[in-house]
Amino acid sequence: MNPTNLESVIRDRNIGDVGKEMYELISTLYPICRSITGKGVRDSLHIIQSHVPLEIREVRTGTQVFDWTVPQEWNINDAYIKDSSGEKIVDFKQSTLHVVGYSAPVKAKMRLGELRKYLHTLPEHPDWIPYRTSYYTESWGFCIRERQLRAMKDDLYEVCIDTSLTNGSLSFGELLIPGKEANEVLISAHICHPSLCNDNLSGVAIATLLAKLLTRLSLRYSYRFIFIPATIGAIAWLAANERTASKVKHGLVLACAGDSGQSTYKKSRRNDAEIDRAVSHALKDSGAPYRVIDFSPFGYDERQFCSPGFNLPVGCLMRTPHAEFSEYHTSADNLDFVHPESLADTFWKIVSAFFILEHNKRYLNRKPQGEPQLGRRGIYRAVADQTDGGGRERALLWVLNQSDGSKSLLDIADQSGMEFGAIKRAADVLLDCELLKEVPTSAERSA
Ligand code: ZN
Repeated sequence: MNPTNLESVIRDRNIGDVGKEMYELISTLYPICRSITGKGVRDSLHIIQSHVPLEIREVRTGTQVFDWTVPQEWNINDAYIKDSSGEKIVDFKQSTLHVVGYSAPVKAKMRLGELRKYLHTLPEHPDWIPYRTSYYTESWGFCIRERQLRAMKDDLYEVCIDTSLTNGSLSFGELLIPGKEANEVLISAHICHPSLCNDNLSGVAIATLLAKLLTRLSLRYSYRFIFIPATIGAIAWLAANERTASKVKHGLVLACAGDSGQSTYKKSRRNDAEIDRAVSHALKDSGAPYRVIDFSPFGYDERQFCSPGFNLPVGCLMRTPHAEFSEYHTSADNLDFVHPESLADTFWKIVSAFFILEHNKRYLNRKPQGEPQLGRRGIYRAVADQTDGGGRERALLWVLNQSDGSKSLLDIADQSGMEFGAIKRAADVLLDCELLKEVPTSAERSA
């Protein structure tokens, strides 16, 4: 049976093994050398297109996007360091991280003393390769293991970086899944890192599977997914959508969402936007430990969406934040660092948060003078029948009492300390027996 709404998806979870599917997508994308522009991003977007009907958009080199200019397109064929015997001791084909991202082309011979200036290592983790980029100043370099550097003899080395920087374009992927309302939920993942799993591919995989799920459902909101190079991609998207960005009523940036740590939600700049409250509530309802942290102008593309000229209600959902795991931006952020169960756990928490957004409406109690007689309507079971500790009845009484038209179901769930799902089911029962009526949302009033 194909699910038709989020409620049945959450209840039945009959959409296959999403954790495994996301992990397989990450494994497919992992070897590709991505950067902020170039073939690696396009190849990655084409792979995502095999799951969802993404549109690939191109922004030409030199395009002015607010205070930035879209840079030249970077592509790489090969890169290596050979010793004097001709042996390749560093080979881009072994790891995309070996080359500093956006390295200018170079072909030269040099002794170790000179070459050292272009080698980056992590002395505190001698077996890990660091991830470095040089986007907006032209330079070149290699990233290698500290242990390898220590073993390198004074020799004449041949260095080759076969890259090109040419006028081309910046690519990003976009998919709009229309709902009943034109109001949008924005989901954004960055797609500019090479072989790094948690930082980059976890968000990409979760966003892809969410999009795949939502395309099959009947939805209240329209959902817009964007797969963009960090910073410049978000700024380019905002520049192209400056006049319509206000349609974004809720948004989530997904990053570092597949490690084994607990979930961390970083609130939007607004601090108490509906998305902030919905994600916080979904995390609480999950029963697992979690953290909610305040907005800060560091991190991922929430920095751009929450810049003061837009101030969109966009938060960031992670597991372990980037500053808090030593594998961050190293070769240790690999296929062993992310887990199908963690990816699936994040996925289901987002589904729960979207369920809250979809059903967070306001209602009016139609019999507000005293409590209506629920027993007469057959919806108030005898105390002896209670199998859920009276939760169902408590939910009915909370919804009836608070539904004066000013409180949303999320307000009631927060105030009562009950799960959103229980409050929503109570509202459904009360609507069925005409004790409640819906207060139209502003989108419905203007439709
Ligand atoms: Zn990063």
